[in-house]
Amino acid sequence: MTLIEDAKKGKKPPEVETVARREGVDPDKLARLVARGRAVIPRNLRREIDPIGIGETLTTKVNLNLGSSRGLADPGAEVEKAVVAMEAGADTVMDLSTGGDIDEIRRRVLDAVAIPVGTVPIYQAEVAGDLTSQGLFDALVQQAKDGVDFVTVHVGVNLNSLERLKASHRIMGVVSRGGSLTLKYMSETGEDNPYYAEFDHLLDIAREHELTLSLGDGLRPGCIEDASDRAKYMEFIMLGELVDRARRAGVQAMVEGPGHVPADEIETSVKAMKYVTDGAPVYLLGPIVTDVAPGYDHITAAIGGVIAGMSGADFLCATTPSEHLDLPTKEDIFEGTVVTRIAAHACDLTKPGVRERARHWDRKMAVARRDLDWPAQFDLAINPAIARKIRHRRGVDVETCTMCDELCAIRLAKEAMDREEMKEEEKKRKKIETNKRTKEIEG
Ligand code: SF4
Repeated sequence: MTLIEDAKKGKKPPEVETVARREGVDPDKLARLVARGRAVIPRNLRREIDPIGIGETLTTKVNLNLGSSRGLADPGAEVEKAVVAMEAGADTVMDLSTGGDIDEIRRRVLDAVAIPVGTVPIYQAEVAGDLTSQGLFDALVQQAKDGVDFVTVHVGVNLNSLERLKASHRIMGVVSRGGSLTLKYMSETGEDNPYYAEFDHLLDIAREHELTLSLGDGLRPGCIEDASDRAKYMEFIMLGELVDRARRAGVQAMVEGPGHVPADEIETSVKAMKYVTDGAPVYLLGPIVTDVAPGYDHITAAIGGVIAGMSGADFLCATTPSEHLDLPTKEDIFEGTVVTRIAAHACDLTKPGVRERARHWDRKMAVARRDLDWPAQFDLAINPAIARKIRHRRGVDVETCTMCDELCAIRLAKEAMDREEMKEEEKKRKKIETNKRTKEIEG
């Protein structure tokens, strides 16, 4: 029995209980959401992990992508990135390695972190020089046996969507690596995407290994001009049909979304994904809201992430400052993870069912700021180290801070309000005294 099948039978598997307790959600309600496929808990039983839930009524989660490339393939560096991402608060990591001994990298990453790990099996088939139907399924089984918790499969890229793509007027064409490898397979063999054509076989494997499927958006737009074309929406519709099949087969599934999208098109995009997938958890890459900010794409993606989260997205993939430019360093990984966590929390502050819990954190920070309680402010900061470093970088030790110094608005206002309170107290004291004297005279 898979998790979704247990939940369909009204059971509450331990993972559901754990996630419900951590998130402050009723376990029966969460079990019902898992049964309907509106929340997923990716976990491969081969590995001990701290399970996390993604979807309706749950906090917005953050994934961090790492992985080698052909030119930069240092397993130790990728493991270090996984640990840095976890320490920075990532809920999951994906190993997207395509260079060096990718089996070693994957296994070491799986050993190094106690959070769910995702992969993209088509990369392994390509690296192994076996971009065939058998090679694709072998890679999937191998990664499942290694203990991977969720996999991206670009099932929306197939002969159907290829026709839409040919008829489109995209500037950037296909920018998804998995999507482009699938296109390569189809154009070289003349056959359909094996993961799509043999989706039932894929579901059998996922079911056997309790793999959660992340149905990839291989046709995601690579620039804002391409954001809302027919190819993309055609892919959403197909992913919705495949989500239905996954649920019927007892396999957990989420759907991936774009990409590069101007701010005013994000809500439509996310709502369309939710609608055509009957509320499947939505996993977003970005969305990056402008194409002109290389070096700052962790910020362009965070802006899009907030709008997407407010529109219903459940899971944000961190973008790092090196997006579009270079393989990320561990410093980029840390920065990208923290900035995406800020976006996720900003979403949570507005989400029904989540916002009260999320706002508790901000309320505590507001009290610490009001009280000029610096240690508490550092403890509550999303990145205490950077807050502490900036506060102390000039070596000045004042009760307020060097921004307004003696004109600290918080302190001046507090002193003024304290003075007003004393005046009120004095007024009350005088009134009581006058009343007392009047009674004495009358007596
Ligand atoms: S000095 Fe200004 S910025 Fe600093 S704590 Fe006071 S009000 Fe805030």
